[in-house]
This record gives sequence, C-alpha cells and structure tokens, in this order.
Amino acid sequence: MSIGIVTAAYIVASIFFILSLGGLSKQETARRGNLYGISGMVLAIFATLLGDHVTGYNMIVIGMAIGVVVGGILAIRVQMTSMPELVAILHSFVGLAAVLVGFSTYLDTTAVFTSTEKVIHDIEIYLGVLIGAVTFTGSVIAFGKLKGLLGSRALLLPARHWLNLTILVVCIYLGYEFVQSGEISVGMKPLLIMTVLAFIFGIHMVMAIGGADMPVVISMLNSYSGWAAAATGFMLSNDLLIVTGALVGSSGAILSYIMCKAMNRSFISVIMGGFGTKTSSSSTGSEDIQGEVISITAADTTELLNNINSMVIVPGYGMAVAHAQHPVSEMAKRLQANGIDVKFAIHPVAGRMPGHMNVLLAEAKVPYDIVLEMDEINDDLPEVDVVMVIGANDIVNPSAIESPDSPIAGMPVLEVWKAKQVIVLKRSMASGYAGVENPLFFKENTRMLFGDAKASIDQVVGSL
Ligand code: NDP
Repeated sequence: MSIGIVTAAYIVASIFFILSLGGLSKQETARRGNLYGISGMVLAIFATLLGDHVTGYNMIVIGMAIGVVVGGILAIRVQMTSMPELVAILHSFVGLAAVLVGFSTYLDTTAVFTSTEKVIHDIEIYLGVLIGAVTFTGSVIAFGKLKGLLGSRALLLPARHWLNLTILVVCIYLGYEFVQSGEISVGMKPLLIMTVLAFIFGIHMVMAIGGADMPVVISMLNSYSGWAAAATGFMLSNDLLIVTGALVGSSGAILSYIMCKAMNRSFISVIMGGFGTKTSSSSTGSEDIQGEVISITAADTTELLNNINSMVIVPGYGMAVAHAQHPVSEMAKRLQANGIDVKFAIHPVAGRMPGHMNVLLAEAKVPYDIVLEMDEINDDLPEVDVVMVIGANDIVNPSAIESPDSPIAGMPVLEVWKAKQVIVLKRSMASGYAGVENPLFFKENTRMLFGDAKASIDQVVGSL
C-alpha cells in the first residue's frame, strides 16, 4: 500500500478515535463511542500492516495470535469488579512496550541521521523509556493495590520528597550524558541506570498514594500510558501512534483533573504522594465515634418502603461485588409503580473506576434521567424520606466533613445522614477502601441491613 493511502487511512482512524472519545463522554452515546474506537483501531492495524515498511508477517502474526488469545480469554473471564485491575495491568503493557521499543530503536544501527536529528532522536528515546518505565512499574503497583495484593494505605517514607527530587535530578544528568555519548556502548550505561531509577520512581510514586486518592492514580497512569504511546510513535516515526497517544494522554490528564476536583485534592499534592494522607498511616478516624448500631430486617425495610414518598439509592463498590444491580433496578421500578419518587445518587469515585456505578446501572437498564451526580442531589437529601446505601462506605462517610483529622477530610461526600432515614446494606461493620471507620453507621436515623446486598434486595423485592 502506498504511503499516501496509509496516511489517508491514519487520518480517518484519528477521526474515528476523536469521535470515540466524544461518544464515551455520555452514557447515551457510549456504545456508539466504543464502535467508533473499534473501527478506528481495526483500520489503524490494517493500514500499518499493509504499509511498505513491513517486510515480513511471520513474527507479526505470531505476536497478534498470542495477543488475541490472551486478550480474548481475559476479556471473556473478567468480572466487572476486576475491570480496574485489568485496566491497570494493560497500562503497564503500554509502558513496558515503550521501554522495549526505546531500547530496540537505540540499538538499531541502520538508521542514518544528521547530528541535529541524532540529538532529537536520542531525546525521543530517552523520554520514551523514562515515561514508559514509570508507567510500567506504577501500573503494576496500582494493579497490586486494586487487586488487594498490596495494602491500600499510603507508604510514607521519611524524606520521600527528597528521594523523588534526587531521582529527578540524576535522571536529568543521565539524560545529558546519554545525548552526549555518541556511541551505543557509552550511551547504554546512562540509559540503563535511568531505566532502573524510573522503575523505582514508578513504584515509589504509586506506593505513596493511599486509599481514597487511588482513583486519581488510575486516571493519571491512563494519561502516562498515552504519553508513553506517543513517545513510542515518535521513536517509530508513526504519526497515528503519536496522535492516539496524545489523545489518550490529554484525556487522561483531563480526567485526573476532574477526579481531583471531585475529591477536593490538588493534582500536584496527589502525584507528589501522600500530601493529602498525612494522618492515614496512623488514624482510622474511629476515635470519636459515638452512638449505637441499630440493625433492621428485610421485612421491616419493605414495610418502611411501603410508607414513604421519596427515596434515593446510593450504590457503591459493594453493589458491584454482590452483582445486585439488576434486583436494585427491579426494586426501583416497583417502588416507582407504587408512586414513590426514586432517584439514584452517584459519587464521582464510587466503586473502583471512574463511571463504575453508571456502567452497572446502565447494564441494569436504569433510566439515565433518574441517575444524578453528587452535586445535583446533595442539597435535596434533607427532604428525602429514605436513603438506601447499597454497598457504599467511604463516599457516604460524614467524617470527611465533620472530622478534620480524618484521612479523608476534605473529600466531598454524599450527605446521606441529612435524610429522614438511612438504610445501609452491607455484610459487616468493616471499613471501606480507605480503611476509615464510618460514623454514619452509628447515627440515630441509620438502620443497618446486614447481609449480601443482592440477597437483601432480593428479599425486599420479593415482598414489595
Ligand atoms: P468502599 O470500598 O468504601 O465500601 C464498599 C463497602 O461495600 C464495604 O464497606 C463493604 O462492607 C461493602 N460490601 C462489599 N461486598 C458487599 C456485598 N456483597 N454486599 C453488601 N455490601 C458489600 O466503596 P465506595 O464505593 O463507598 O467508595 C469507593 C472507594 O474506593 C473510595 O475510597 C475511592 O477513593 C476508592 N477507589 C475508587 C476508584 C474509582 O475510580 N472509583 C479507584 C480506586 C479506589 P462489608 O465488607 O461489611 O460488606
């Protein structure tokens, strides 16, 4: 295929990717957005494979076959609750690919450059490997934290900012050495040392970000993986990879900004690690909790629901674990049929990935117009008869507002305790992802419906 046709295909693929991002920004158009993305990617792969620079297909076919089999099996098997880990590990592959492409490009002696081009080429390689290495280990640690293999608490080493600063300064110096080196045998040493340092930085950066700040890490690593892909595009002189990487990098950065704003954190403090988690290593916020826990049965819950006019449902990670979205949707329908005004309230970091709850509710065919964002519904909560909290914990924790020493202090939450009555569905008194005790469970107007959320809702639906 001639270079002109490949370029035209790349431009069309880029347009598909932009349309895809536009589509994914709203639930109503997300399915279409995905289709645009798939179309763009298929076009991009074929245009690349049919380009003049591809000299043989054996290795490509073997690589693609392995990728298709592994990716296909993983995608079929993955549970909705495990999606965040999968996304994190996929980000790590992008990072690792950037590192490997960087080294192989550096070792490729066939390309001929003028001295200026060589400097630019070396900077591309150095930055590509640096971003790729940070993305790789950072994503592996994020995978471990999300899968529960590593604790969610922030690791706050003494002098951690000095450690980060030292690594940064050494990497800049090594970059200078690398670009000056001229020969592969000389340049390899600074490149290798920087790669190891970047691996360490990636581990340290994500280990230092704790509990409730993890959503920002995920979107930030998403952004890094985009920049790593763009750097790979520069190294391989592939325009489409540069454009796609820049799209992912910038949309991930915008998402990180949105998440930070939603959680009242500054982006810099989150990525510098542990600024917002000063007390999280020592305090669980449990010191001042007063009141007693009052439980309620499913039968009494149904009776209560038969005598109300309005209800707000707050889903959280536990709803995903319990696969309770379908019975929850059914319950909402039946209550609406009984004339009750039912709404859903979504916190921006509910669940374990951005938009997690929206996806589950859309899957269970909950109409979009009764699903409201935190900012849209918080002021109305005092007027609501019953708020039902289904497997949510951190996102409804009053200590974020009432206790300045709490590890989640300052994070906006759904102020459900202001409603006339709150029913919390969970299995035990265990804390949520941030590891913080929740005074909501001890409030006078709160009733705890203990048990698996799906089993509890099934009982309620059965008797409504
Ligand atoms: P939490 O993790 O705070 O709480 C979930 C609650 O669900 C737990 O307390 C648990 O209690 C309960 N639960 C678990 N399984 C079940 C079940 N089968 N039936 C009933 N209840 C169950 O979740 P939230 O959604 O409230 O908050 C999200 C947290 O995750 C925040 O801290 C956020 O920062 C963090 N996070 C969010 C990400 C995102 O992008 N959205 C990414 C990474 C982290 P019990 O064990 O007693 O049942």
